[in-house]
Amino acid sequence: MKVRVYELAKKVNLSNKDLLDILHDLGIQAVNHSSSIDESEAQLVREYLEEERKNSDEGGELPPNFVRVDDKITIKNLAVAMEIDPVEILKKLLVLGVAANENQAVDQRVAAHLAAQFDFIAGGEEMIPKAREAYQVKLAEKAAAEEKTAVSAGVGADNVQAGEGRAVVHTEDEIKSEIDQISEGIQVGPAEERPPIVTIMGHVDHGKTSLLDAIRKTNVTESESGGITQHIGAYQVILSGKRITFLDTPGHEAFTSMRARGAQVTDIAVLVVAADDGLMPQSIEAIDHARAAGVPIVVAINKIDRPDANTERVRQQLAEHNLLPEDWGGDTICVEVSALKKMGIDNLLEMILLVAEMAELKAWPKGQVMGTVVEASMDKSKGALATVLISNGTLRVGDNIIVGTVSGKVRAMINDRGERVKAAGPAMPVEIFGLSEVPQAGDELNVVEDERIARQIAAGRQIRDREKKLAQGQRMSLDDLFKQVQEGVTHTLNIILKADVQGTVEAVRQSLENLATDEVTVNIIHEGVGGISESDVTLATASNAIVVGFNVKPDGKAAKAAQTENIDLRLYKVIYELLDNVNAAINGMLEPEQHEVMLGTAEVRAIFKTPKGIVAGSYVLDGKVVRGARVRLIRSDEVVFEGRINTLRRFKEDVREVTAGYECGIGLDGNNDIQEGDRMIAFTIEETARAV
Ligand code: GDP
Repeated sequence: MKVRVYELAKKVNLSNKDLLDILHDLGIQAVNHSSSIDESEAQLVREYLEEERKNSDEGGELPPNFVRVDDKITIKNLAVAMEIDPVEILKKLLVLGVAANENQAVDQRVAAHLAAQFDFIAGGEEMIPKAREAYQVKLAEKAAAEEKTAVSAGVGADNVQAGEGRAVVHTEDEIKSEIDQISEGIQVGPAEERPPIVTIMGHVDHGKTSLLDAIRKTNVTESESGGITQHIGAYQVILSGKRITFLDTPGHEAFTSMRARGAQVTDIAVLVVAADDGLMPQSIEAIDHARAAGVPIVVAINKIDRPDANTERVRQQLAEHNLLPEDWGGDTICVEVSALKKMGIDNLLEMILLVAEMAELKAWPKGQVMGTVVEASMDKSKGALATVLISNGTLRVGDNIIVGTVSGKVRAMINDRGERVKAAGPAMPVEIFGLSEVPQAGDELNVVEDERIARQIAAGRQIRDREKKLAQGQRMSLDDLFKQVQEGVTHTLNIILKADVQGTVEAVRQSLENLATDEVTVNIIHEGVGGISESDVTLATASNAIVVGFNVKPDGKAAKAAQTENIDLRLYKVIYELLDNVNAAINGMLEPEQHEVMLGTAEVRAIFKTPKGIVAGSYVLDGKVVRGARVRLIRSDEVVFEGRINTLRRFKEDVREVTAGYECGIGLDGNNDIQEGDRMIAFTIEETARAV
C-alpha cells in the first residue's frame, strides 16, 4: 500500500517540508508533497517521530525528579521511579490512614501528593512542560546563586531573602522566575508542628455558626486576658497546649471557591449534622466537596440536646455515604455535640488534634514567608485590610509584602482578639494593615526584600493570571477527552451530575459508570437533585470536572460562572443522547462541537423609531459587529434578548460590518425592546474541527 507525502504529513502533524527533510534523513526517496512512499516507509517515519518524542520527554531537559503518571501507578513502580523503598511510600499512606500494599495502584492525584513528599513531581503529559520549566528555573537559579556566592562570600544561607541582591528585573520571564524562586528557601531552620486549619461545613441550620461560636467562647487563646474575640475571618483556640485554627466562613462554597482559585488552606473539614434532621442535601454536597479536595472529614453530630435527636440514624446515613463511623468499625470520627449547651466541644477539639497529628502538619517558622488571604475588605479609616493565614515562615511588622497582585508594607497586625502583634507564625490568623488595594480571598502572600521587587512580582503575577485565563481553555471537556483518547492517553472523566429526581440521578449515574473503559475511568465526584448551582460549577472548576444536567437547568449565576470559567456544562433531556455523547467522547468518536466565537461589543447610545422598527444608534466598543451575526442584548448584566443583527447601517448606507471606534445603526431581528445603555454582544457559532 502506498501513501502520499502530504497525507502522511497531515496525519503526523508535520509540514510537508519537515516531513520531506525527515524522509531525506532516513534515506527514503520522495521528491515533493505528492510523491508516494510505501506503508512500511511511513511506519519507519512514525517510529522515528515516536523515538524523537520520547527522547525529548525523557531527555536531559526533563527534571530527574519527574515521574510520569497518566492515570494510575502502582506503589511499587512509583517507588522504583523515585529510587526509594516502597515501604517509605506505604508509611506515608499509613499516616493518611490508608493501609495499602505495594501492588496497589494510586491515582494521579494521590501519586502527585506522595511524590511531593519525596521532592518529586508526578503527573501526566500536561505536567511535562511545567516540570521542565520549573527545573530550568531551578538550574538557572542554582547557577546564579553559585555565581553570587563566588562574588560575595560570607552571606549565611539562612539570611537569604527573596530577591536579595538581585539585579533590576525587566523581562516577563525574569519576573516569572522571581515568583518561582520564592518557593526556594521554604525549609530553612528547624521544622515545627503547625496547628491544623479547620473549616466547618454542613447543611443550613444544622448549627455551623453556633458551633464556631461555642468553640470560640469555650477555648479562646490566652484566656487570662479575658478579651472578647474580634471577627477577623479566622480564630485560634488552644486545647491542652495545642492550637487549632478555625476559618470563620463556614460552608463548602467558600472552601471550594478558594480551591478554584488555586488555594487550599483547609487541613480538616468538620461536617456538622443536626441529630434531629440527619444528612441533608448540603451535608452530602459538603462531603463531596471535602472529598474532591482530599481533606479528611470529622463529623460533629450536633443538637444532641434535642428530644428528637437520633444519632444512630445519622451514623446509618453517614455509612450510606461511605463515611463508616469509627464505632461501627470504620474510620470516620463522629463526635456528639450540642453547640447550644456547649456539650462535647473539647472532645471534638481533641479529635481534630488527633486527625491533625496523623497528617503530620509541618512548617518552617524561619523559612520563606508564605500565606493565604482568607478575607479582605476596605475600611474607611484604616484602608485596605486583609486577614491572612501564614502557612510557612513568620510574618513581621515592617515586612514588604506582595499579596496576589497587590503590594505593600505591613504597617500593623492584629490577632483574633484585636490585640496588636509584631509577628505571626504558621497557621496564626492576623489582620494586616498597609496594603495599597484590597486583595481577594485565596490570594497568595509573600515577603520580598524591597518594594521595587514587590511591584515587579505584582506585575509578574498579572502575567501569570493572564496565562491562567488562557489555560482555562484547556479545562476538561468532552471534546478534550475525545482528543486525548484519540491520542491514546488514558484519563479520568470527572463528572458533576444533577437531575430532576433521585431515581433519575441513580439511573444516570449507573449508566455513566458503565461507560468506563480501560482508558477512561468515569468518576462522579458529586451528584444531586435539583438545578445546577454556582457551587456545582465552582466544584467543577476546582476539580477539573464537567457538569451534566439531566432535565434541569443552571441558575443565572451558575450559567455565568460556567461561561467565565470555561466549564463544559451539558444539558440533556433524553438519556440516550447523554449516554451517546459521553460514550462517543470516551471512545474517541465525538461529533464536532459547536462553539461560540465572540465578534465584538457595541453600546447603545440613542434609540430611533423608524417605520421598520427600532434602530439602535450604537458605538462599537471592541471587535466588530457584523450584519447577520448572532447577538445578545445585555441590560444591567442580564441577557434580555438573543437574536440576530438584522440591519447594520453607517450614514444611511447598509454595511456588512462595523469595527471598534465607529458608530452605526443596528436593528435586531424581531425585537423592539432596546434601551439606551444596553450592550450588544455579537458572536457567531463555529464548529470545532476534529483532530483526526
Ligand atoms: P447554620 O445555618 O448551620 O450556621 O446554623 P446556626 O448556627 O445558625 O443554627 C441554626 C439554629 O439551630 C439556631 O436557631 C440555633 O440556635 C440552633 N442550634 C444550633 N446548635 C444547636 C444545638 O446544639 N442544640 C439546639 N437545640 N439548637 C441548636
